[in-house]
Amino acid sequence: MTAYQPGAVFLDRDGTIIDEVGYLDRVERLSLYPWSIDAIRAFNRSGFRVVLVTNQSGIARGFFTEAIVDDVHRHLAALLAEGGAHIDAYYYCPHHPDGRVEMYARRCDCRKPGRGLVDRAAAEFGIDPARSFVVGDRWLDVELARVIGGRGILVRTGYGAAEERRPPESFAADAIVDNVIGAAGWILRHV
Ligand SMILES: [Mg+2]
Ligand SMILES: [Zn+2]
Repeated sequence: MTAYQPGAVFLDRDGTIIDEVGYLDRVERLSLYPWSIDAIRAFNRSGFRVVLVTNQSGIARGFFTEAIVDDVHRHLAALLAEGGAHIDAYYYCPHHPDGRVEMYARRCDCRKPGRGLVDRAAAEFGIDPARSFVVGDRWLDVELARVIGGRGILVRTGYGAAEERRPPESFAADAIVDNVIGAAGWILRHV
């Protein structure tokens, strides 16, 4: 018998908790949605691990470096801390098959909807992916939820409103909500 492992909330970054600005290549361009702190604090209070999972192919494309992404995440963590919220871990995929930077230009298992980032978090924190939620503004975030056997919520911020108008044929979201605070409400009603 394996020990009980709780689920986590896997949050996309761009268009989900911060403004979608194309490729976020300077920390000055980071802009947190005003409701993101409340949403993350609600997850924290409810005992969820909160794990950020983001595709950052701009690294493979040569638009910015891993050091920039780390900087952005440090800054994001500081903004959240000011509001009494925290993200337990920040994971990103730096790869892309068509990248220009050789060391990142490859297929990988961590580019969403691949499950590599979730599996890393699951191993590190003892998370059960099947009891988890994925929140994001792209269908690939919802698809990641399908891949791990969890539940997927599309938010209408970022690309979400446009994504909602062209749903995929092979799967659907468990919920479509206006923003991450709406996702928090839905998740807390469904645990
Ligand atoms: Mg996004
Ligand atoms: Zn990857």
